[in-house]
Amino acid sequence: MTDAPLKLFNSLTRSLEVFEPVHPGEARVYSCGPTVYNYPHIGNMRAYVFADVLGRTLSWKGLKLTHVINITDVGHLTDDADAGEDKMEKMAAEKAQSIWDIAEHYKQAYWADVRALNIRQPAQWTVATDYVPQMIAFAKGIAEKHCYELESGLYFDVSTVADYGRLARAVTEDGEGRIETVEGKRNPQDFAIWRKTPPGETRQMEWDSPWGKGAPGWHLECSVMSGEVLGFPFDIHTGGIDHREIHHPNEIAQNQAFCCTNGLDEPKNSGAKIWMHNNFLVERSGKMSKSSGEFLRLQLLVDKGYHPLAYRLMCLQAHYRSELEFSWEGLGAALTRLKRLVMSAGTLADVTSQPEAEHPKFAPVLAKFDQAMADDLGTPVALTALEDALAIKKVDAGIKRAVIEDMDAVLGLNLFNLSRADLRICPKAATITEAEIEAALARRKEARAAKDFAASDAIRDELAAQGVEVMDGDPLGWEWKLG
Ligand code: AMP
Ligand code: ZN
Repeated sequence: MTDAPLKLFNSLTRSLEVFEPVHPGEARVYSCGPTVYNYPHIGNMRAYVFADVLGRTLSWKGLKLTHVINITDVGHLTDDADAGEDKMEKMAAEKAQSIWDIAEHYKQAYWADVRALNIRQPAQWTVATDYVPQMIAFAKGIAEKHCYELESGLYFDVSTVADYGRLARAVTEDGEGRIETVEGKRNPQDFAIWRKTPPGETRQMEWDSPWGKGAPGWHLECSVMSGEVLGFPFDIHTGGIDHREIHHPNEIAQNQAFCCTNGLDEPKNSGAKIWMHNNFLVERSGKMSKSSGEFLRLQLLVDKGYHPLAYRLMCLQAHYRSELEFSWEGLGAALTRLKRLVMSAGTLADVTSQPEAEHPKFAPVLAKFDQAMADDLGTPVALTALEDALAIKKVDAGIKRAVIEDMDAVLGLNLFNLSRADLRICPKAATITEAEIEAALARRKEARAAKDFAASDAIRDELAAQGVEVMDGDPLGWEWKLG
C-alpha cells in the first residue's frame, strides 16, 4: 500500500509540496557529501541517514532512484564563506601527509560509517578532484556574464542573478558580518569560484586554468557534479541546515547563471525542484565539534558498546526537520527499543516471506505507515506503525514477515539480520570477555541448583567487580549487561 501522495518540505518555498518527478517514474537526488579532512561526527552522519531514508521512501513509492553523493577532497575552506584555509591543505600540513592520503583515509572511514548505519550505496559517489576539467568548463561558460577576476581568484557577482539568497531568507546587509572582506569584491556575498594559488606558493592540489594555477571553489564543485550526473533540473538536493545559508544559495546562483534562467519563483530554475535540509544533532557539552579532541564519532559509540543501528534508530525517532539532542541515555533508550523490535522480528526468523499475499488485518497499519512516510518522511509515526504491525497476532506468518520486510526496507533497521546477541552492550574497555561471563554464569547456575547461595553470590560479586551486572528476571530476557 503506497497510495498516499508524497509530500516533501521544500526549503526554497518553505512549504510542503507534492513530489512530482521531473522525469516520469524517476527520482534524481543529489546530497552534499563530506569533506574528507577528518572523521565524520555523528551529526554529519545524521545528514546521510536522512538522505538514505528519503531515497528509500522514493523507492518505496515505486520510483527509479538515482542518488548521487559527492566526496569533497578539495576546495572547502575553514569558513563556508570565502575566508580561511582549505580544510584539506590545513590537515595535510598539520599531519605532514599528502592530501591524497588524507582524503583516502577519511573517505574510507566515512564509508565504514555509511555501512555501519545501513545507509544504501548511492548510484554514484562523485569525487570532486575527478571533475576539475568540467568545473573549469562550467566556470568558463559563466565567467563573462557573471564573474570578475581579482588577484586572489575568479569571483561570482551575485547581483547578476535574480533572487540571490532567497533560500537563506537573509539577503544583503545582515549577511555581511560573517563574510571576510576581500579587496575589490563588488558585493559582500560574492564568492570565489576559482581560487588562484598566490604568487610564489605551490599548493599540493592545483590545476591550470584560464585564470592561472589554482583550485576550484567548494560551491562550484557541487553545481558541476550535480548537473553533470543528474542533469538540470533534477528532483531533490539535500544537505544539512547550515547549507541553507551560504553553500546552497551560492550553488543556486551558479546554476541559474549556467542554465541562463532567471527568477526563483519557478523553483526548478534553481537547478533542483526541491531543496531539503536536515536539522542538526546537538550536544550540550560541545563534543560535536571536530576541533574538541575526543569528538563524537560513530566509532566512539561502538567502543562504548552501542550497536551503530541504535544511533540510526535514534535519528528516526525524531523528525528530520527537528533538532535532535544527543545523550547517552537517549542512545540507551533507542538501543532498548531496537532490542524489542529485533526480538519481535526474531519470531519470524524461519518464516518464508509471502510478499504477494495480503491480509486485511495489516491494511490499517500499512496505511498508517504509508501516510506517515508520505507526510514529509514522518519516521517517528512510521516506527509506531512498525511496532503495531509486529504486535498483530493470529495472522499468517509469511504475510506478516512480508509486511515487516516492506516497512524495514524504508526504515533500514536491518531487523532480520540482527540477533539479540549483536545488540548486547560490550564496551571495548571491558576487562572480561563474553565467553568468560557465560562461563561464570554457568557456574553460578550450578551453585544455585545446589542451593549453595554463598558461592552463587560470590560469583555475582566477582562479575560486578568487572562491570558485569547480572540481570535475573529481565523482561527482555537479558541475563547480563556490561556497563
Ligand atoms: P561537512 O563534512 O562539514 O561538509 O558536513 C557534512 C554534512 O553534515 C553536511 O550536510 C552538513 O550540513 C551536515 N552537518 C554538519 N553538522 C551537523 C550536525 N551537527 N547535525 C546534522 N548535520 C550536520
Ligand atoms: Zn555541496
